Amino acid sequence: MRAVTPSSGSGPVTIAEVVAAYADYLGRRIDVQRMTMPVGVFGMWLRSAERDLLVVSTGVATFEQTLAHELGHLVLGHDEGCSADPDSGRAAKREEEAESFATLLVRRVKAGHTLTRVDSVVDELLG
Ligand SMILES: [Zn+2]
Repeated sequence: MRAVTPSSGSGPVTIAEVVAAYADYLGRRIDVQRMTMPVGVFGMWLRSAERDLLVVSTGVATFEQTLAHELGHLVLGHDEGCSADPDSGRAAKREEEAESFATLLVRRVKAGHTLTRVDSVVDELLG
């Protein structure tokens, strides 16, 4: 149901390409942006009627990991918002889920796996 099939022959090789493939699948615009953000805020996901915006702080060295983390919130159906220090148990659990998703996704993409389905990462995560 949530298959992501890149238009080109080979699979995405960067997280940004995974994001683009997922946007294609959703038929929705997903933009990626680097911005200066307050200390302690790594990234952010903002949803509006016409698009989703994934923001990665310029202060973060691990761009791919943080972008994958923000994508994780989107894919896992979390609430939009900042990824900062969680202040509640529910937030902490979601941060953990998004981080696990990111770690799996980055590992797969770096290993050169043809990633045609984002939900296969979700399955592995929840399985
Ligand atoms: Zn987060």
